Amino acid sequence: MKFDNKVNRKEFLKLTGIAALIGVGGKTGFSLYASGQEPETDSDENKNKIRYGLLIDTKKCPPDCTDCSDICHSKHNVPSYKSKKIEIKWIWKEPAKHLFPENNWDLKPVAAKNVPLLTVCNHCKNPPCVRVCPTQATFKRDDGIIMMDYHRCIGCRFCMAGCPYGSRSFNYKDPRKGLTELNPDYPTRTTGVVEKCNLCAEKIGDGSSPYCVEKCSKGAIIFGNLNDPESEIRKAIEQDHVLRRKAELGTEPSVFYKV
Ligand code: SF4
Repeated sequence: MKFDNKVNRKEFLKLTGIAALIGVGGKTGFSLYASGQEPETDSDENKNKIRYGLLIDTKKCPPDCTDCSDICHSKHNVPSYKSKKIEIKWIWKEPAKHLFPENNWDLKPVAAKNVPLLTVCNHCKNPPCVRVCPTQATFKRDDGIIMMDYHRCIGCRFCMAGCPYGSRSFNYKDPRKGLTELNPDYPTRTTGVVEKCNLCAEKIGDGSSPYCVEKCSKGAIIFGNLNDPESEIRKAIEQDHVLRRKAELGTEPSVFYKV
């Protein structure tokens, strides 16, 4: 299959819309986003289930720091390219106005609109990317992490069109050629495959935190079980004013922002 980076997002949205309407992933287009859905609460069903998430403290995160993305990208063999058109991102920064477009930015100072905020895959509770994937290459684990099976990915990019957060990247080139250093302990991907943050699923099983959390010397990222009322993340969410990106879509992101 030839991968053309001129195939734009609009075309893919069109394709995905058709796919979703005809029932790719077993759902109709009307249920791609569960708009208006209430956030998850402590139902008996959820109380004993792990649901991992992150809390990003925007005030603790210095705008020019890249420690978390540097460690993440090096540990996961994420290639680095000069061209924005082909870049691969697992964790990165975007201007606040892009992350929270629904904010009333007209009335805010330019500096506030452009302050760089951290973003990753939101590991949504209702993930549209999983619904539209025709091969189940993207799937949700029991602990809430949204994963990629790179061997099943056919490069259709429906997930990229379905994700309302731009959290996925497509390998237009052989990612191994964009690496400055290879981490032999983590698999590399191939051309024509979509990739994204995996919340360090390969390491958190032993009770440790994702690399980004461990590396952040400012304590700007908290990781933990959202369903555990005693966890640090859950307590912080209950006590502080927190936001989730595009919450109105009903995707229920597991990534929270303290503002
Ligand atoms: Fe899927 Fe995007 Fe949600 Fe991540 S942020 S789970 S890629 S829809």
